[in-house]
Amino acid sequence: MICCERIALIGVGLIGSSLARAIKKHGLANHIAITTRRPETLAKAQELNLGDSYTLDAAEAVRDADMIVICTPMGAYEGVVKTIAGALKYGAIVSDVGSVKAAAIEAIAPHLPDGVHLVPGHPIAGTEHSGPEAGYAELFPGHWCILTPQDGCDETAIAKVRALWEACGTKVEIMLPAHHDQILAITSHLPHLIAYTIVDTASQLEDDTQREVIKFSAGGFRDFTRIAASDPVMWRDVFLNNRDAVLDILGRFSEDLSELQRAIRKGDGAKLEAAFTRTRAIRRGIIDIKQHIPDVKPNGDA
Ligand code: NAP
Repeated sequence: MICCERIALIGVGLIGSSLARAIKKHGLANHIAITTRRPETLAKAQELNLGDSYTLDAAEAVRDADMIVICTPMGAYEGVVKTIAGALKYGAIVSDVGSVKAAAIEAIAPHLPDGVHLVPGHPIAGTEHSGPEAGYAELFPGHWCILTPQDGCDETAIAKVRALWEACGTKVEIMLPAHHDQILAITSHLPHLIAYTIVDTASQLEDDTQREVIKFSAGGFRDFTRIAASDPVMWRDVFLNNRDAVLDILGRFSEDLSELQRAIRKGDGAKLEAAFTRTRAIRRGIIDIKQHIPDVKPNGDA
């Protein structure tokens, strides 16, 4: 099923290269134009045969494209959009895969010419790996992709982006950008921040203790190290772009943590047990709606 004649992918790391592979696998576009910042990444994309044309010039890649998907870290958005704005054809659809939606719209929308439709997107699927070699077409099936179009956005454009993601195997939901950012702050951004903190605390222990932490690392810590191995640039940009929602949820989290700290200090076993019982119910809820099914590769769910 063809979703568009020519699609341009800007950035070809984990998500961009997975999307390129899925588009090829399912025959969703007649031409995939690939552009990225560094020559070595472009050469790798070409070696992996991810697209049909390759260029370091983003404006050249988007010329004549019906759909453009920005797949770079969010800090690069504004520069990318300024570069491509003049080359976008009338009626083109611009989308993205960024993990924060209000900031994505702020960075992209003001620079788009009239007649170009913006349909922001976020596939909630990922791993801790990055770069063109890390991607795979089966990253998306079974996961959600959230679209956050603004009021008045062209319905046909939304339907085309929805069709692309559904053909890649995701379920699609439409949401307000601020709501998306609040939900992701708790389900993804806070867990990553906690993982980064725990592993960083371990990394600052004295050498001997640190060696033992690595040697005896058990399930809990090992799982955190996987999440904390996620791309530093991407995650820097997530926290800088979702500052308010993350700070809000972090405030609540700190209060709850202090309560548990107090319960431990006071030997309040009932309080600890009650909290740990409530959390089990959340896990059961996730299992009930089959959101726990493991991926082919470990899932970062950014
Ligand atoms: P990644 O593997 O590090 O890939 C990023 C790509 O962007 C690379 O190809 C990089 O290429 C390119 N790039 C960086 N700056 C650029 C610029 N100024 N112009 C053009 N290309 C540029 O990152 P990723 O994990 O795919 O993440 C990409 C986006 O997906 C992020 O916005 C992230 O929030 C979102 N996302 C990530 C996940 C996840 O789990 N990783 C999940 C869902 C959504 P060069 O080597 O050429 O710089």
